[in-house]
Amino acid sequence: MGIVAVVGRPNVGKSTFFNRLIKRREAIVDAVSGVTRDRHYGKSDWNGKEFTLIDTGGYVVGSDDVFEAEIDKQVELAIDEADVIVFVVDVTSGITPMDNEVAKLLRKHDKPVVLAVNKVDSNKARLDAVEFYNLGLGEIYCISAINGSGTGELLDQVVEALPEDAVDDFDELPKFAVVGRPNAGKSSFINALIGEDRYIVTDIAGTTRDSIDTRFNRFGFDFKLVDTAGIRRKAKVKEDLEFYSVMRSVRAIENSDVIILILDANRGFDSQVQNIFWLADKNRKGIVILVNKWDLIEKDTNTLKDYKAAIQARISPFTDVPIVFVSVLNKQRIYKAIETAVEVYKNRSKRIKTRELNDVLLPIIQNYPPPATKGKYVKIKFITQLPTPQPQFAFFCNLPQYVKEPYKRFLENKLREHFDFTGVPISVYMRKK
Ligand code: GDP
Ligand code: GDP
Repeated sequence: MGIVAVVGRPNVGKSTFFNRLIKRREAIVDAVSGVTRDRHYGKSDWNGKEFTLIDTGGYVVGSDDVFEAEIDKQVELAIDEADVIVFVVDVTSGITPMDNEVAKLLRKHDKPVVLAVNKVDSNKARLDAVEFYNLGLGEIYCISAINGSGTGELLDQVVEALPEDAVDDFDELPKFAVVGRPNAGKSSFINALIGEDRYIVTDIAGTTRDSIDTRFNRFGFDFKLVDTAGIRRKAKVKEDLEFYSVMRSVRAIENSDVIILILDANRGFDSQVQNIFWLADKNRKGIVILVNKWDLIEKDTNTLKDYKAAIQARISPFTDVPIVFVSVLNKQRIYKAIETAVEVYKNRSKRIKTRELNDVLLPIIQNYPPPATKGKYVKIKFITQLPTPQPQFAFFCNLPQYVKEPYKRFLENKLREHFDFTGVPISVYMRKK
């Protein structure tokens, strides 16, 4: 997996391109302060290689000057954080000064760049497109984001430039990522874990560029924190802290087993936190939610219960997630947080024997079979857990296509009732037998 960033000036067709690649509407919109820009994240794949696609932003309003001031930041972020950059230009307007500016920045680094000349909807446009060789970024890829032509060749090039999947470490230590909005208390949490230096075993240079895993032995647990160097270093682009931290989260999430998602109790589970949660869920990672700064909240008998319910309403339907109320400042429940993350890790690596699975689930299915569709009855014959790093279950049946989402959710709930998968996304597949 890797990160692909789409950059370019407004109106060249970045969002159109993005929407074409992200099928099933699996995208989130990150309306940063709701005014100047939207950023979109989504997962896509091509030739079996998965990647996270980030549209670095349409600038809704603003003159060229405003944009020029922003472009450096946008591109620098992409250069820092993405594995491949797709630079989109518009054949109908030819090379503009802003395109030149972006190209200049990109040429200064050796990050792989794929140049997409968009709106090539005609043969004439195809001839015009050669002009973009002048940007000095190598091959041009003529595409029409609207009708999809040319995007295949472009994606071949994109996945070609993606790094190979990181090879799993030889040891089997749980990998945790500490993520959250700026100021939620991530660094404080890590510092609390570090305590004295003796708790850090080693700093291990990761297989992916720029990520450093730190090995810990704390409270009797052996684990690694992914990318703590990045978190400690903090964002260098202060004004764009939010975006930077999301980009970092994307990478940290992909490289870990369990996400420790920290939020500031005063700010609550807002849409930014929801985005990070969504990324973790979509990447099928284990999740623990830490509600930090609990010391600052005035409490009565129902506060905790209500707070929990409010979070669950926002993460529905995946609500089987542990929520731990902590005060990092007062070092309260830090142990509990790590203990919970270790439990979630174990849940995620849990393997249920086929025999046990069938003994438990088949009688339930018998009593409550999938509803008949068009007079056809679905018969589920047996169930097995697939040998994947995270829990996936295959239900073998005669008519897999007739089993709809609500019934799959029912099965997931039954799995959760009988086997502890707290904090772990589960996949349920219907297979033809
Ligand atoms: P962004 O600001 O870079 O995200 O650009 P948008 O995706 O919003 O597209 C800007 C405009 O260009 C919209 O009116 C699109 O319909 C149009 N557009 C995008 N892709 C194509 C294309 O391949 N061909 C043509 N003719 N128009 C396009
Ligand atoms: P980061 O940006 O997520 O790494 O957040 P920091 O760890 O830098 O914390 C941001 C601010 O919140 C700092 O001023 C911390 O002292 C404060 N903070 C962190 N944890 C707590 C807590 O549990 N209670 C209170 N009251 N403040 C906290």
